[in-house]
Amino acid sequence: MNTLSNKRVISVAVTGSWPTKADNPNVPIHPEEIAQSVFESWQAGAAVAHIHVRDDEGRPCMDFDKYKRVVELIRANKECDINLNLTTSGIGGLDDDLRIYPLEQLRPELCSYDCGSMNWQNNAIFENHPRFLERLGLACQELGIKPEIEIFDTGMLYSALYYIKKGVLKAPCHFQIVLGAPGGMTVDLDHLLYLHRLLPEDCTWSACGIGKGHMPVMLTTIALGGHLRVGMEDNVMYHKGIPAKSNAQFVARAKRLLEEAGYQPASPEEARQIYGLRPRT
Ligand code: ZN
Repeated sequence: MNTLSNKRVISVAVTGSWPTKADNPNVPIHPEEIAQSVFESWQAGAAVAHIHVRDDEGRPCMDFDKYKRVVELIRANKECDINLNLTTSGIGGLDDDLRIYPLEQLRPELCSYDCGSMNWQNNAIFENHPRFLERLGLACQELGIKPEIEIFDTGMLYSALYYIKKGVLKAPCHFQIVLGAPGGMTVDLDHLLYLHRLLPEDCTWSACGIGKGHMPVMLTTIALGGHLRVGMEDNVMYHKGIPAKSNAQFVARAKRLLEEAGYQPASPEEARQIYGLRPRT
């Protein structure tokens, strides 16, 4: 029996672009807070950390020095071998080069690959030009970084299938289904079942729901055999009206739910095998 068959990867998205300290004072914003939150999440059972950075005022940014500081702080802790997943989301129409530069310099194990463009409902465009997606897919192959293909609606999944066929994305791929983002598919479990059916057979996949969709999507994902993403990027409330104390609190809950369902959280090394990430050097 494959010893990895009952392991599920918990990924923690600690900061994201939008939550602020006003939403929940426990959202990690500064590099030291982000690194500490990642460490605590790893201790609680997370095997992947999805990283966004903020400027000194807490606004979303893609500042390379901030990324560098966060990655250095996490990697300086030799005890913690969590896999890093850097966002390439490029807030505010950022130049393609600047979106790829942190990957070239910092070589995370994974990066986000947002497979299409979308209007956030707060008047911003989530812009992922085909030119950028082709370049990012090929850069990932060259750098040995696994793209985490984020799916906010069905068209993005069909685009991913197109890029796989074209050789821009190399199978077997890893997908992250995100439901409930403003402008994306809503949290309806039929949507999750539908997207799940369209995934390539050889892929690995994970799913998350934003806000109150967090729990139903997590429970359904466990039932469907997927991997999990939790964290304050997606949800700042532990229960309705009760702000989360930390990202680790979400990870600990995901671990308990997996264990109750007969699974175990994958270690970072097991996650590297399950997702086909490059070995640690
Ligand atoms: Zn993100």
